[in-house]
Amino acid sequence: MTNRVEDIFAKQLHERRKRLEEATARTGKSEELSHLLRDVDRALDKIDNGTYALCEICKESIEPERLTADPLVRYCLDHLTSTEQRALEMDLELARQIQTGLLPKKDLFLPGWENAYHYEPSGPVSGDYCDIIVSNAEDGTFFFVVGDVTGKGIAASILMSQLHATFRALSATGLPLNQLMERANRIFCEASLITHFATLVCGVADSDGEIEISNAGHCLPLALRSEWVDRFPSSGLPLGITCEGKYSTEKTHIGHGEMLLIYTDGLSESISGTGERYGDERAAKLLKSQGSVTPSKLISAYLDDLNAFSSDRRRSDDLTMLALRRL
Ligand SMILES: [Zn+2]
Repeated sequence: MTNRVEDIFAKQLHERRKRLEEATARTGKSEELSHLLRDVDRALDKIDNGTYALCEICKESIEPERLTADPLVRYCLDHLTSTEQRALEMDLELARQIQTGLLPKKDLFLPGWENAYHYEPSGPVSGDYCDIIVSNAEDGTFFFVVGDVTGKGIAASILMSQLHATFRALSATGLPLNQLMERANRIFCEASLITHFATLVCGVADSDGEIEISNAGHCLPLALRSEWVDRFPSSGLPLGITCEGKYSTEKTHIGHGEMLLIYTDGLSESISGTGERYGDERAAKLLKSQGSVTPSKLISAYLDDLNAFSSDRRRSDDLTMLALRRL
């Protein structure tokens, strides 16, 4: 782990120490507060003597995503007590439930559009972000977002929920899409670790099929036209790389029966038993071959194709697909 990352943890720990001291001053000394203070001091000592992020039993590195979620973690996953194991499993289950609650409603009504999505974490929680936000119920304007935070597991899922809150809040401001992306990038950049960033596609659509879309370093969204497939290239860096990031947008029209598909690299980077990569070309080809199907049928077709492509492998990355079809 770089010193810079340890500096960030040290800052968080000092902040936590200050809060605990304030709480002690307010409520008086308690066993619990003293215990928490001891834990923080122990972690700060470990930063000072260069053993922070190392398991106290085996001296191997502690999983970084667990440290991000809790800078006081002392043991690697292999050396948790059975009580800690059970507590961790319960925490993960709760996190999974919370994350599932952040997904758009399955029967969400969008005037002029049909929609369906597939959201599949590789573990209990996911670093993928998928959202549909109705911003104006009267004219049917809505935002659609698909993103992918680097890494997976707990740290990525915390950042995913941060993206969720950011886009939910910004979508209500009426900002033009390019400025919304710039604002979201700045918020993400200032709040996340330097080791984490997010590729993301955000678009805004109305019931007449006009869409504006911005792609921040994400797999290319696809639009199925009558006889061809359009792609929407990236027009900015992934969120969180630099706070000054600029994003341009592209406007287009989605005609009746045309389909928009956005996916994460859990699809395109999937590897077959023979080491072949699924790839964007195969994704585009499959879309073209589907013709006029519903979004949920389209997603089923992708899942069937992905399973046939790599029948013997377990899902190693989070997978998300969002399909929007103009009625
Ligand atoms: Zn260990």
